[in-house]
Amino acid sequence: MDLKENLEKLYNEISEAKESSNFNRDVKLIAVSKTHPVEMINEFHKLGLNDFGENKVQELISKFDEVNGEINFHLIGNLQTNKVKYIYNKVKLIQSLDRIKLAKEIDKRAKADDISVDCLIQINIGEEESKSGILYEDTEKFIYELQEYESINVKGLMAIAPNTGDELLLRKLFEKMNKMFEKLSSNNFDRVEMKYLSMGMSNDFKLAIKEGSNMIRVGSKLFGNRNYN
Ligand SMILES: *Cc1c(COP(=O)(O)O)cnc(C)c1O
Repeated sequence: MDLKENLEKLYNEISEAKESSNFNRDVKLIAVSKTHPVEMINEFHKLGLNDFGENKVQELISKFDEVNGEINFHLIGNLQTNKVKYIYNKVKLIQSLDRIKLAKEIDKRAKADDISVDCLIQINIGEEESKSGILYEDTEKFIYELQEYESINVKGLMAIAPNTGDELLLRKLFEKMNKMFEKLSSNNFDRVEMKYLSMGMSNDFKLAIKEGSNMIRVGSKLFGNRNYN
């Protein structure tokens, strides 16, 4: 597989999507490296990518220790409270903050080290049983409750859209996410900044960018298909 070719093709598609979008937002690319070897991360790093997404704590920390150079890891999968201690001081962004109990644990660990941890709030935009995330309607209440945890910085919102070819539905859901993002962009909360709207994956990043996404998480389009064995 030619990784350079995959990346160039993706950059072109991102540009096209930006041109057809009403938003003029820079789009940050997170390369989702889950299940793929460190060598591929290093190769993409050489091609200019610095941010990689992993959904499993164990895999993230083993890669964290192995990669060459300055690489930012993002935790994009469900995070168990008892695993926070392994990653809270390693990751660039925890993109899957979805429970107060989790916030409490992140805050406790961070506070002890006198650091802050940047997080995105994960919203279950499709209200799917199989997905984590808070309910869309609960977003402001959740942020309000997070105010108690002073070592957590909220840097934006994250969503995983339903796996569907229904473009109308996807656009509607992305649009809804952007509405909340914009609504919260002017807020009076402490340590809450709407910097990133993380939505869009290999199959739906174009629609997501059209609806205002400024952070996409792309795996298979860069790395090829995943083999879970
Ligand atoms: C796996 C994963 C992605 C990337 O999925 P692709 O369809 O391979 O691009 C993005 N976001 C999350 C949260 C994921 O778990």
